[in-house]
Amino acid sequence: MQSPDVPPPSLYAAREPIFPRRVKGTFRSLKWALMGLMLAIYYVTPWLRWDRGPSLPDQAVLVDLAHRRFFFFMIEIWPYEFYFVAGLLIMAGLGLFLFTSAAGRVWCGYACPQTVWTDLYILVERWIEGDRNARLRLHRQAWDLEKARKRLLKWAVWLLIGLATGGAWVFYFTDAPTLAANLIQGTAHPVAYTTMAILTATTFVFGGFAREQICIYACPWPRIQAAMVDEDTLTIGYRDWRGEPRGKASVEGHGDCIDCMACVNVCPMGIDIRDGQQMACITCGLCIDACNDVMAKIDKPLNLISYMALTDEVRERAGAAPKSIWSHVFRPRTMLYAVLWAGIGVALVAALFLRASIDVNVTPLRNPLFVTLSDGAIRNTYELRLRNKHGEDRWFTFAATSDAAFGLALEGAAGLKVLVPANETKTQRLFVTAAAGSSAAQAARTDLRFWVQDLGTQANPSNDRVHYDSVFNGRGDIEGKAE
Ligand code: SF4
Ligand code: SF4
Repeated sequence: MQSPDVPPPSLYAAREPIFPRRVKGTFRSLKWALMGLMLAIYYVTPWLRWDRGPSLPDQAVLVDLAHRRFFFFMIEIWPYEFYFVAGLLIMAGLGLFLFTSAAGRVWCGYACPQTVWTDLYILVERWIEGDRNARLRLHRQAWDLEKARKRLLKWAVWLLIGLATGGAWVFYFTDAPTLAANLIQGTAHPVAYTTMAILTATTFVFGGFAREQICIYACPWPRIQAAMVDEDTLTIGYRDWRGEPRGKASVEGHGDCIDCMACVNVCPMGIDIRDGQQMACITCGLCIDACNDVMAKIDKPLNLISYMALTDEVRERAGAAPKSIWSHVFRPRTMLYAVLWAGIGVALVAALFLRASIDVNVTPLRNPLFVTLSDGAIRNTYELRLRNKHGEDRWFTFAATSDAAFGLALEGAAGLKVLVPANETKTQRLFVTAAAGSSAAQAARTDLRFWVQDLGTQANPSNDRVHYDSVFNGRGDIEGKAE
């Protein structure tokens, strides 16, 4: 039992700064390419234009909060079509499952914003302070003019990147050129400045200082991914049966690992992959590049460290050849994820092209079910909710078809035409009347179909129409009880 005088061990470990060394190779090149692509997509997208006519915004990708719509090139999604967003989120989740079960944390290593921005921040750090050894020296040396100059310059560039990141984000929510002008003139909405300030600060802190701490402690994905990987998943592994005992190549009996620490020094997570698979490893492949470089120099076979599955490790230890990469990628689990992913994708595309251009909802008013007019006619009332998805005011007309004859009238409107303002939803009451003694007046229920036609505008006439099936309630078996 521990003495009460002895303080309990601290559960907190102070962060050891990591200074990844520069490395060249296949995986580093792939990471540079993906980083450039993703940063370009993020920063450039709000500036892309897409002509939707004079009354709709021409920004290709826009979350139009004011009118509660989302524009993505030729696609326009309304809040009630949230199933598209839900479908895309499910696809994103299944995509992550697919890639993780095939190749471990490749999302973390290559595409996660935390990785991409941290890579960018390290690039800036390296330009200003030098490679690993120079940065280590600077970190350990006392503050002087040179250290202050380099640090201030680095932080200033980091802040500018953070500002550009926050700035790009707010451009997704309103017309980018207009907002840019307003931001410069100081006339933008305070929400825009606040959002930019928060994103600038989080980018600066997460990319500049927290770095691998976010991946290890803050992000839930490393925990969730444990359920996605299995013994056939490709992850980063060290061939210890080939590399050990490590040490000088010139010494008889040593394995291929010369213990140069190159794989450790390039690792952005600060881990030694020779200790075995670890939760902190983001499978970025930089240690493979570093070790292959060393192996080439000492004239040993490449891939002492490489992507491999646990099943391959067992086979190789037994002297057999590893399975092909494709047999790890194409297996029932990954195929199932791929089929589900593609199925949802196809369903979303079909829903996108099959959705009606007019959105109408008809609700029969049930209290009372019907009204008997002074001439004996039976009247039902319906509430129509009609959404004008266009950027200009539009006229819509109403009609009804049925085996029985009905009279139609709109509350507060002459004729059967109604004007719905641009981007708004109008609620309109519709009266449907069956003449006294008619079959519809006498029957309990009669099917009828409402038709709504978009008349468009003079410049842009339309013939779009949709129908909505409902019922008309007559006197039927409750004759004499109503009213
Ligand atoms: S161990 Fe290798 S793959 Fe894993 S994070 Fe470090 S450098 Fe990347
Ligand atoms: S880079 Fe390769 S040789 Fe050098 S320590 Fe790492 S595993 Fe060993």
